[in-house]
Amino acid sequence: MKAARFHASGGPEVLSFEDAPDPRLRDGEALVRVEACGVNRLDVWLRSGRYKTYTPHVLGTDVAGVVEKAPAGSPVGEGGKTLVYPVISDGSCPRCLSGRPNTCPNMGLLGAVADGGYAEYVGVPAANLLPLEGMDAPAAAALPVNFGTAWNALVSKARVSPEDTLLVWGAAGGVGHAAVQIARLFGATVIAAARGKERTGKLGGLGADHAVDYSVRDPVGAVMDVTGGAGATMVFDHVGSETWGKSIDSLANGGKLLALGTTTGADVRVDIGKVYRKELTIQGVYGMTRKDLLAVMAQARRGRLRPAVHMELPLASAADAHRMLESREVFGKLVLRP
Ligand SMILES: [Zn+2]
Repeated sequence: MKAARFHASGGPEVLSFEDAPDPRLRDGEALVRVEACGVNRLDVWLRSGRYKTYTPHVLGTDVAGVVEKAPAGSPVGEGGKTLVYPVISDGSCPRCLSGRPNTCPNMGLLGAVADGGYAEYVGVPAANLLPLEGMDAPAAAALPVNFGTAWNALVSKARVSPEDTLLVWGAAGGVGHAAVQIARLFGATVIAAARGKERTGKLGGLGADHAVDYSVRDPVGAVMDVTGGAGATMVFDHVGSETWGKSIDSLANGGKLLALGTTTGADVRVDIGKVYRKELTIQGVYGMTRKDLLAVMAQARRGRLRPAVHMELPLASAADAHRMLESREVFGKLVLRP
């Protein structure tokens, strides 16, 4: 089969479109013909060496396609369309058995701990096949990591409601644009922050009530203006060290910091006094459960969540997709088509 692989970590140019062995299926695994694969920030970090992995390596966590081979009892049979739940776990620990494999001590993501969807075919645990109906493959492949994680944060963990005013950092990116839409779906007031005039200009179209270009304006000031000085009830922060201090400053008393990423780094200096004086909650969020992803799929099928697919690229252009993502030119998602 053809795949976009890398044999050593480095810049986007290490992604090589080449012949690779077909996936070798183990017991309980299914073979999926990839129709679309979402590109995530995680892919860039695995490729660049920020996260260690094995080589040669096929990236790709968000896979939509058609089941070619499946064991008996598979949730999606041969010939069926599927979106793959990307969390691979031991399936036997208390976390897995309680429906939260995303927090299993032995969890990893498809495309990180196993070869993923930057290929014509991928082998996945059959238990991870979710039936895909009423949605085309590129839109579906934009959902798992971004919308699934944002749903876990805002709905499953934080119970976002019309009472909330939410600041979303990096709102033009994959997970940010998902957060804006999900928060709006639940009636929250959304202050969306992104870099650059052009990307900020598109945030209203996602449903943001207020858009802030944080290359020219401090979002803390915008939050205080919107809330009459009270602050936001929640902040959605996947940016990390660059934004954490401002996230804490922008929160109202009793507010909640949803922490789900470290794009700009993981080292932060926190004024603990601000955390306890305002009785803040810091809520970590990691990945998503099957239930989260199924909920997202149901909303997307009804047109109530709309992944913004910035561009579909052929698999042979995987390196270009990484260049675009790293240049922060992308609004929403990039999707590869084998
Ligand atoms: Zn487990």
